[in-house]
Amino acid sequence: MSFETLGLRTELLRAVSDEGYTCPTPIQAQAIPMVLEGRDILAGSQTGTGKTASFALPILQKLGQSKSRNPKPRALILTPTRELAAQVEESFRSYGKHLNLRTAVIFGGVGIHPQIGQFRRGVDIVVATPGRLLDHAGQRTVDLSQVEILVLDEGDRMLDMGFIRDIRRIIALLPKKRQNMLFSATYSDDIKKLSDTLLVNPVRLEVTPRNTTVKTITQKVYTVASSRKRELLSSLIREGKWNQVLVFTRTKHGANKLTKQLLSDGVSAAAIHGNKSQAARTRALADFKAGEIRTLIATDIAARGLDINLLPHVVNYELPNVPEDYVHRIGRTGRAGANGIALSLVCAEEQKMLNSIQHLLKQKIEVEEIPGFQKEIRLPQSPRVPQTRQPQDRMKKQASFWKSSPGRRA
Ligand code: AMP
Repeated sequence: MSFETLGLRTELLRAVSDEGYTCPTPIQAQAIPMVLEGRDILAGSQTGTGKTASFALPILQKLGQSKSRNPKPRALILTPTRELAAQVEESFRSYGKHLNLRTAVIFGGVGIHPQIGQFRRGVDIVVATPGRLLDHAGQRTVDLSQVEILVLDEGDRMLDMGFIRDIRRIIALLPKKRQNMLFSATYSDDIKKLSDTLLVNPVRLEVTPRNTTVKTITQKVYTVASSRKRELLSSLIREGKWNQVLVFTRTKHGANKLTKQLLSDGVSAAAIHGNKSQAARTRALADFKAGEIRTLIATDIAARGLDINLLPHVVNYELPNVPEDYVHRIGRTGRAGANGIALSLVCAEEQKMLNSIQHLLKQKIEVEEIPGFQKEIRLPQSPRVPQTRQPQDRMKKQASFWKSSPGRRA
């Protein structure tokens, strides 16, 4: 299967080839023809599967060219976080660089006036977080009456973050006749409710089976006393010579504290969370992507949809309260076929959370004790979980990884 056979125009084929893509990912192969046909879409697809291009390319194809000198938005993409909005808009710009469509990214935490100016000059495609878009609608600085296509990206996360009312308010401002797409990594009853009200006779696409983790990710639990987690993390990063690791903490305060501690251990680190200014978040992400800092420490919300090419390591410094967040977190690694390693540092108090995660995954995550880090606690080794579905080849991969693990030598 090639991009040519999907019926995309030459401007888009050129852009895709500039990006270095040779063939469509499964979600792209499935979604692009359906979107071009005008169908509504319900896609169970995680970040890392190429989902952005699966809606961006056909939207660009359908919009074609700007209709007037001051176009009104014809496509609207809603995302839960600023980071995801920025990344999605960047994708639209890259894929659409040989077309003359205009895109805008709209989120809070930055000045509203440049955004007003952009709308005034004309925009074809808007990528926005719900709150700031509603501010514009309230001030009548945006006219959404020409929107033909609506995408809700990471719909599950938007619901988790309490955006449902904002979403409904925005939908009420759109023309009734339009094409709708709902992307969600997990499929809950709330997502079902939303899809029932939003989508008309949708095509259902599923690339990664619901609530399961991408196969290329090796998962492992290290049991460790909570007081020694920081020491273990520092030594894993330094001895393993990890150059790019995304670390999750549960709280903003925890992220700040860990950042300071790693810096004092001589490990370059920066935190990214909701209390940081947008400029600080953007700079931290850019430095991390450029390899200038080794460790990016994030809370769940700030990390939504972060797209970091070939991110080799994700560490759960603390397990998430919501098991679904585990799937989201580790989905940052092992993308586009690359291998990734997701480690969770688990203390005795987190045993219950670990059990819930394993139940959700229907899979047991291998537990490893790190010599020297295990004195203060002892976790039960075999939590009761449904039958494991771990394929043999992954077990082998894990075995070889652990042979070379610095932790073993610690
Ligand atoms: P997404 O799931 O949209 O966040 O995309 C994840 C990553 O896959 C991004 O870095 C994309 O640039 C990359 N990507 C998307 N489509 C393809 C493709 N067809 N071939 C190779 N990489 C791709």
